[in-house]
Amino acid sequence: MINLKAVAPAPARRSPPVLYDVRDSIAKITLNRPRFRNAQNSAMTYGLDSAFQRAAHDEAVAVIVLGGAGDHFSAGHDIGSPGRDLDVSYPRRTLWPDHVGRPGVESRLRREAEVYLELVRRWREVPKPTIAMVQGACIAGGLMLAWACDLIVAADDAFFMDPVLRMGSPGVEFFAHPLQMRPRFAKEFLFLAERVDAVRARELGMVNRVVPRAKLEAETFAIARRIAAMPALALTLAKRAVNFAEDEMGLRASVDNAFALHQLAHAASAEVSAGDAILGATPQSMRRAAAESGTGDPVE
Ligand code: ZN
Repeated sequence: MINLKAVAPAPARRSPPVLYDVRDSIAKITLNRPRFRNAQNSAMTYGLDSAFQRAAHDEAVAVIVLGGAGDHFSAGHDIGSPGRDLDVSYPRRTLWPDHVGRPGVESRLRREAEVYLELVRRWREVPKPTIAMVQGACIAGGLMLAWACDLIVAADDAFFMDPVLRMGSPGVEFFAHPLQMRPRFAKEFLFLAERVDAVRARELGMVNRVVPRAKLEAETFAIARRIAAMPALALTLAKRAVNFAEDEMGLRASVDNAFALHQLAHAASAEVSAGDAILGATPQSMRRAAAESGTGDPVE
């Protein structure tokens, strides 16, 4: 869900897709493809995993803040930027073997089980507090990153949506919707693919705080500093206790179930769409469909 009008010649020196910085015991991880509204290609996903590992292992880091460069947190998984790297092999981080060169279902399952399921779970379970700092678009795969964090601080211009039903899928791979926003609204969120603004997201329990856009970073870091002053072990234990409770409420099992349905949906789409597992969806087609249904331009 990126705007191809924004495509420009590749810069002579590419900036990394993820930035990492530590200030006063707070690690700041930044999604850094602002030209493409931080659409997530695999280079970004693996960069993100490296950054989380670095922050987790650095004794000087007490709290991790995850943000996005530019006007948007993340417009989702990359379905059309020039840096789309679906068929590139990267060194594996989990026990799922490489997907490249494998046929259809097997290739998708291997790739998505690693980058969209197991890595997201790993980030959710980093034994340090994490805060998502969200401005602008937080769409589909963007939701997965925000949901993996412990707290979400949203700017007043932030909005949330999962329009992947239009691609034939029940929802994004890390299907936490029913626990993030209660089941009945989760259905509305998925069925209508509408934007949910920051205030509504807070009312639904998905967002902790809504702050003015200009103060997003200052307010997020103020919260991070307060958390960083708490006893580190107790924070780890509190996080594990809540995550365990969330899994007991059904998060882990329902994500596993929906992930299998998601793979079934990709296979069904590929079967009727000349092998295209997302029904030929492009950033342009997603924009058009959203405009026609009046749900708001997903990449405006
Ligand atoms: Zn998928």
